[in-house]
Amino acid sequence: MSGHGLSDAYRDAELLAVALDAALTGAVEEREALAGYEQARLRESAEIFDLTCALAQYPPVSTFIELNKRLSSAIDAEAAALAARPVPGAAVAKA
Ligand SMILES: Cc1cc2nc3c(=O)[nH]c(=O)nc-3n(C[C@H](O)[C@H](O)[C@H](O)COP(=O)(O)OP(=O)(O)OC[C@H]3O[C@@H](n4cnc5c(N)ncnc54)[C@H](O)[C@@H]3O)c2cc1C
Repeated sequence: MSGHGLSDAYRDAELLAVALDAALTGAVEEREALAGYEQARLRESAEIFDLTCALAQYPPVSTFIELNKRLSSAIDAEAAALAARPVPGAAVAKA
């Protein structure tokens, strides 16, 4: 419906990799690391997911246009947040 999903998939793969790294290096209990990953994924997916579900109900045109504008803003905000995120392992690679 929204033509969106690949960036979520990459984001979630990175969130999971960071969580697994924390668990495998012993920094955090595995259960806690994976629960943290799940919460982050749900939190970061919620707005776009809800907008997509609303669009998929084919509301009246004026609502459809408004939802698409909100979706566009949400996707822009997600992209900016992803671009601002530190690159995992970058500090280790530099050292
Ligand atoms: C028709 C269509 C068009 C789309 N267009 C866009 C677009 O233009 N832009 C965009 O950003 N997103 C688009 N998407 C959404 C995007 O493709 C998905 O959000 C994204 O691919 C999800 O990635 P993923 O890695 O989470 O899951 P998937 O890509 O679904 O990968 C999951 C993989 O796990 C495998 N698998 C499942 N169960 C098992 C198992 N038990 N054992 C082993 N392997 C298993 C599957 O075979 C699959 O290869 C589109 C989706 C569809 C269906």
